[in-house]
Amino acid sequence: MTDLDSDLSCPPLSPFAFEDGRCMAKRDYYEILGVERTASTAEMKKAYRKLALELHPDRNPGNAEAEERFKEVSEAFGVLNDEQKRQVYDRHGHAGLQSGGMQSGFGSVEDIFSSFQDMFGDVFGFGGMGRGRRDGPARGADLRVGAALTLSEAAFGCQKEVTLQFPAPCAPCEGTGAEGGKVTVCGMCKGQGQVAQARGAFLMSSTCPQCQGAGRTAAKACPTCHGRGETTVERKVKVAIPGGIDEGQSLRLAGQGQPGRRGGPAGHLYVTVEIEADPRFVRDGSDLAHELRVSFTQAALGATVKVPTLEGETEVKVPPGIQPGDQVKVRGQGIPRLDGRGRGDLICIAQVEVPKKLSAKAKQLLLELQQTFESEG
Ligand SMILES: [Zn+2]
Ligand SMILES: [Zn+2]
Repeated sequence: MTDLDSDLSCPPLSPFAFEDGRCMAKRDYYEILGVERTASTAEMKKAYRKLALELHPDRNPGNAEAEERFKEVSEAFGVLNDEQKRQVYDRHGHAGLQSGGMQSGFGSVEDIFSSFQDMFGDVFGFGGMGRGRRDGPARGADLRVGAALTLSEAAFGCQKEVTLQFPAPCAPCEGTGAEGGKVTVCGMCKGQGQVAQARGAFLMSSTCPQCQGAGRTAAKACPTCHGRGETTVERKVKVAIPGGIDEGQSLRLAGQGQPGRRGGPAGHLYVTVEIEADPRFVRDGSDLAHELRVSFTQAALGATVKVPTLEGETEVKVPPGIQPGDQVKVRGQGIPRLDGRGRGDLICIAQVEVPKKLSAKAKQLLLELQQTFESEG
């Protein structure tokens, strides 16, 4: 899958650009991880794990310096662990990554967790600790949606409206699940979530049966979400599809995914293109192939025939003596190239049709033709 960055709204955050425009000198990635320039992937992973464990935000709550260093080591690891980025960095340094458009920094700690989720899963147990952080802002989920296009829409670009559905906190009850958001302290446990029961001589504590340990109850469930605290939201998004896009390619719309929670950034929206089959053409990159049906007399004598194009039709000259499978090219009548460099060609592939039925006159003429061929040797 190819991601085309049609980033319309949010420029990538650079963690190293200060508000007044100054830029911090960036340290060497190998130095940050404390590994040799010849370090293997396994060695780097080991070094990163060790540092990430030390600097993990959950272990250093409220420590901004630790968080910055956590971002720094994560960025270094993100680059050196990627073979392509590492090569660019080894050759051209930080500037090479920047001019190559290889984004290396992380905007937030949440981004780091989602990027290295597998590894944090290994180190910190399932879910990776980062995802379980309940109080901090959380980035919204990425959403994926398909967009069905005709071949012409894919060729020349179009505006498409896609419909997204995602869960969001229920508005009328503010996500509490209680009607009008009215929650009261549980009468049975007085908000403790635990109740004490006498068992013989002992006082045993157990989960409150009335509030299931939440400490709060609602007199009535919210009628909108039936007490779930969550509803399905539908949102329509207009997507500008660039001309030349191909089957299976995706557009990324930054910040158009699921909204973040507690002030976190929204996720991204990925729109994947599906192109409906067109019986007239077979697409091959920016070229279109069309089956050109000619009669056997047209094939022998040559002809001018009409062929369909994306915009209508055009005429092509069939040279005398064309053979089945021969190609006649119509330049510039293919698909516009995505990078704006012109259009592909319409390639007409000759298919010679032999009549299945002949009139008496046609048969007579063909017999004469056959005799002529024979006498000409
Ligand atoms: Zn209770
Ligand atoms: Zn509700």
